Amino acid sequence: MYGFDFEMGPIRPPSEAESILLRVTRNCPWNKCDFCGVYKGEKFSLREVDEIKRDIDAMKAMGIESKSAFLQDANSIIMKPEKLAEVLEYFRKQFPMVERVTSYGRADTLSRISLQNMKMLKEAGLDRIHSGYETGSDTILKQIRKGCTKQQEIEGGLKVREAGIELSMYFMPGIGGRELSLENSEETADVINTVDPDFVRLRTFVAKPETEMGQKVRTGEFVPCTDTEKVTEIKEMIKRLKGCNGRMVSDHIVNLLEGVQGHMTLDKDHMLNVISQFEGLEPLSKRRFQLARRMGYVRTPKDVFRLPNNMLFQITEIAGKEYTEEEWEELMNYFLEKYI
Ligand code: SF4
Repeated sequence: MYGFDFEMGPIRPPSEAESILLRVTRNCPWNKCDFCGVYKGEKFSLREVDEIKRDIDAMKAMGIESKSAFLQDANSIIMKPEKLAEVLEYFRKQFPMVERVTSYGRADTLSRISLQNMKMLKEAGLDRIHSGYETGSDTILKQIRKGCTKQQEIEGGLKVREAGIELSMYFMPGIGGRELSLENSEETADVINTVDPDFVRLRTFVAKPETEMGQKVRTGEFVPCTDTEKVTEIKEMIKRLKGCNGRMVSDHIVNLLEGVQGHMTLDKDHMLNVISQFEGLEPLSKRRFQLARRMGYVRTPKDVFRLPNNMLFQITEIAGKEYTEEEWEELMNYFLEKYI
């Protein structure tokens, strides 16, 4: 209960930092993805509509205000559409100042909801669905036990858009490892081109030590891409985008290049340029930027030269040492693990 008179789940997308968090379901009904440890050991449950309404009343009584709201937890769209619509309508009535209501939705669940019900949810006040597609490759989806197929991603995504709900899909560069890096770019670009989502959010893959993927990295079953190979994977994906109307968003510190964002057609050259400029850096400058970024000191390669002298000296000294590829990646991951 977290000291409030209403429940709150553990996570929300970064873009919902200012949102009212309304817990509609608890935990994740799938809970099997190899790379995810958020809800491990926790049991999924649906909350009763009356219970959720009491939370809405409690939030209102506390004077909570925001222009947006997010329905927790991992896949609240799985709730019976009529019940979810009732929750949405009640919430909208109690919080008329809210302009945007969003929810997570797994691709397999989206593909199973009828277009009619999807439209009903839109009508009731659902504006955007965040969906962790991670990849468009069936091979990788199976490998990471995502529990959905490329076809379901396409069907679900198209339906969301046809219902007038915005689709914010997540892409994980590096999730197929070195072996499937190009396939990840190609197949994901294919899904994006077909679905034409409103947003594609980059979530660079970093194996969490406590997950199955972390274990696979330790045993050598999964060979991860290096930090820079993941950037190449993003480049290969962007190169393949055709006629997309949505925006690419880099809104997480795990992404090395924050500047790779913009309209997927109008800013395509700009995004590819940001990557080329990074790739064109000489080795020490590249490592210096990587290190400073992973330590949380900078956002872009140019920021390195704005660092105070003592900090620049420290970064240059560490980055200039002799490293094997493994040692360097280990150093990057040491810092990256603090963000996942
Ligand atoms: S990634 Fe999402 S769907 Fe997969 S287990 Fe985690 S919360 Fe559930």
